[in-house]
Amino acid sequence: MDHGYEAKKRRLSERLRGAAGGVQLAKRTSSNLFRYAPRDRKRRRLDLSRFNRVISVNDAILDVEGLATFESVVDATMPRGLVPLITPELKHITVGGAIVGIGIESDCFRHGFVHDGLIEADVLLADGRIVRCSTTENSDLFRALPNSYGTLGYILRAKMRLMPAAPYVHLQTTRMSNVEAFLESMRAATEQSDVEFIEGLFYSPTRLLLTVARFTERAPEVADILRRDIFYKLIEERPDVYLTTKDYLFRYDPDWFWNLPETGGYRFFRRFAPASMRNSGFYKRYIDGKNRWLRRLGLWRDDGEEPLIQDWEVPWERAAELTRFALDNVELGGRPWIVTPIRTPATPTLYPVRADTLYYNLGCYCQVKKPRGKGDYYYTRILDRKCFELGGVKMLYSSTFLSQAEFDRVYNGAAYARLKEKYDPGRRLPSLFEKCAMPLEA
Ligand SMILES: Cc1cc2nc3c(=O)[nH]c(=O)nc-3n(C[C@H](O)[C@H](O)[C@H](O)COP(=O)(O)OP(=O)(O)OC[C@H]3O[C@@H](n4cnc5c(N)ncnc54)[C@H](O)[C@@H]3O)c2cc1C
Repeated sequence: MDHGYEAKKRRLSERLRGAAGGVQLAKRTSSNLFRYAPRDRKRRRLDLSRFNRVISVNDAILDVEGLATFESVVDATMPRGLVPLITPELKHITVGGAIVGIGIESDCFRHGFVHDGLIEADVLLADGRIVRCSTTENSDLFRALPNSYGTLGYILRAKMRLMPAAPYVHLQTTRMSNVEAFLESMRAATEQSDVEFIEGLFYSPTRLLLTVARFTERAPEVADILRRDIFYKLIEERPDVYLTTKDYLFRYDPDWFWNLPETGGYRFFRRFAPASMRNSGFYKRYIDGKNRWLRRLGLWRDDGEEPLIQDWEVPWERAAELTRFALDNVELGGRPWIVTPIRTPATPTLYPVRADTLYYNLGCYCQVKKPRGKGDYYYTRILDRKCFELGGVKMLYSSTFLSQAEFDRVYNGAAYARLKEKYDPGRRLPSLFEKCAMPLEA
């Protein structure tokens, strides 16, 4: 049973082969890209929404279509006591999006990124051809999928490794008051064989929370982070928390990390809104729709805020410096920074992290007040600069300001040019730079 995958694939390929001009992905789930420059709207929209099924779960291997969300994947695998090696924290992130967009989670120190669990993929090229890639077949494309953001082709189907999972996760959180001790405890936890997940939240140099978590078969009491508790507050209040495994994997989804206000109205919303409205997909559609209407009606006002929604990774030995820089230079207005250790088994072609090396991922997922007298995206720019200066790399799902030369230097532009020539010689898809970078002066 392949849910009509072969037939859908054939129809799609025929449609695309007969057409000319640029193409662009269209899908039903909301996007998790945060970029703020106007995009090229002239490309033909290619609707891949129907490629959203889990095909099979067999022998700890997931066979899945590229537009399936991680929530649908976990719903299919969890009854068999299995989950993906890495499950991004938002329910509506898709398998294909996370492979090409460097998906991460709090167990990346053990399993690498989302793409490290990929065994093989079917990729739709812009001219309508569909090619299979793996470490042995079209291996250049396979190694270049991570960080390609759909600019070499679209993943229609993926085979991915799964791992055993118990029904619950036990989280233990320690509050610390020293950056160096916090980082050392986090690093040491990566060496404990029974620890499955590691994550930190910090607010100041003296308010740092380290959470280590393990799968468990039994839970004395399970927290309710959909209706009763706000996850990131709960772990500061209680050193021991038990969640169902699905709630743990998507723990930041109900509050979109920390982006739902805490007013009376929102307390009511949390308690009573239907589950279909209590998720990041709904919030993203709501915000996008609201902003579109405000713009159309001429009512949109600059609220003096910068969206600082970014992830940066530096080699572990530079973690303290990046942490201090962030704390000294950016005011998050009571919201936390989020960090996790990462170690990947392989270096992808377009994302230059060193294999078998511990990295420190720093994330910021909120709006921040723009500093007076500074240009737009001031915080994004200074943090990007610091990250590159420390030998780090940043993810490209959000705004990035680099010249083409600098971008090519960081993200292996020479190899990308060769791959583009081979897999999209007609340039029907934008280049990675066109899609992910913004002009330096913007
Ligand atoms: C607020 C926020 C929070 C985030 N949190 C997390 C997190 O917790 N964990 C995490 O891992 N990541 C996170 N990300 C990053 C996210 O994983 C990437 O942006 C990812 O690419 C989003 O995938 P998507 O399925 O939502 O795809 P989209 O946002 O729709 O698309 C992302 C890009 O991938 C391309 N693409 C989509 N589907 C395919 C496909 N099938 N084949 C080829 N290309 C495709 C699109 O063309 C586009 O360029 C976050 C991003 C944001 C903005």
